[in-house]
Amino acid sequence: MNDAPTRLLPDDGAAVSEAAAGAILTIDLSAIRENHRRLKARLGGVRCAGVVKADGYGLGASQVASALAREGCDVFFVALLAEGIALRKAIGAGPEIHVLNGLPPGSEPEAVASDLCAVVNSGAQLKAWRAAAHRVGRKLPAAIQVDSGMSRLGMAPAEVEAMAGDATAIDGIDVRYVMSHLACADEPDHPANEQQRLAFERLRAMLPEAPASLANSSGIFLGPSYHYDLARPGAALYGINPTPAEPNPMLPVVRLQAKVAQTRCVEQGTGIGYGHTHHAEGPLSLATISFGYADGWLRRSASAAWFEGARLPFLGRVSMDSIILDISALPPGKLREGDLVELLGPSQSVDDAAGHAGTIGYEILASLGTRFHRRYVGG
Ligand SMILES: *Cc1c(COP(=O)(O)O)cnc(C)c1O
Repeated sequence: MNDAPTRLLPDDGAAVSEAAAGAILTIDLSAIRENHRRLKARLGGVRCAGVVKADGYGLGASQVASALAREGCDVFFVALLAEGIALRKAIGAGPEIHVLNGLPPGSEPEAVASDLCAVVNSGAQLKAWRAAAHRVGRKLPAAIQVDSGMSRLGMAPAEVEAMAGDATAIDGIDVRYVMSHLACADEPDHPANEQQRLAFERLRAMLPEAPASLANSSGIFLGPSYHYDLARPGAALYGINPTPAEPNPMLPVVRLQAKVAQTRCVEQGTGIGYGHTHHAEGPLSLATISFGYADGWLRRSASAAWFEGARLPFLGRVSMDSIILDISALPPGKLREGDLVELLGPSQSVDDAAGHAGTIGYEILASLGTRFHRRYVGG
């Protein structure tokens, strides 16, 4: 068995050189910082955390958290304990790091060792965290999550009621927040939003008094009654539109460019790509790029790349490491081996790409592969 630790966070952006890579991912840390400022402006004086789960939505949790720290952000959320441990190592002591999915049974000592805040999602988790506090002889920090109506994570109302009658329930726990999560915040007119807010009010009234947190990115745009004491945006920081029915109030953050590996011309009738799912309807100019489904571009999301304002449609199937583009819209010889075409950026936003693929921007970012040259700018 090879016990080398799995790399959860890329250690540095230059791990794959620009010359050796098939594609280049540029991440604008100054845009992430500006997005945090824009959200803070909406929040008035309310505190604004940074959600950096899934390696900062694929963009690098340690780089993103360090950039946000320079905006004064000192509360971070990850999904898994393993992510919390890696992030603590990367950003050092100080900032609060909450583990949203809760601590797996028996892992409490690891969370204590990395000074993490447990998000407590059940009575059993609360009991285990209390026992851990007893063992180390000091209070341990936690956010108590209640299920206000999403049915995913958090204490059920019955569990909260049981706790309300038990004065010793939070012995040894430093309750930093009472929190919950909205299921439909990106649909401002959805009745579930107000139902969840009212359920959250009812549940938190049964718990010890503590600062409250409900809003994700879209929740911030539902108005001040959803802001409470701490907002937890993720997507909006990364440039995903938190108000899908309206123009995007956030700055774009990522640019993804793939290298042309080869160009060619084909005759009418030529089969193109695996399965010959496409045949040239006439003579065509093609370019093959070094980018495919192994880079997180879903096979079903066949769409287009862009070069100097020209749309270059994908032809045939997406391969593991390559995609064939129709470049007939460009003057002959214009696009050459080694040139870069754009997959995400000014011509095609993350939300645009998600729309073509029948998915959401979150999935596009979180799927981004690991073999790009990553370039961090604006740091
Ligand atoms: C992912 C997540 C967030 C951030 O949500 P966005 O929609 O990306 O802003 C906030 N809170 C919880 C509990 C989450 O799971």
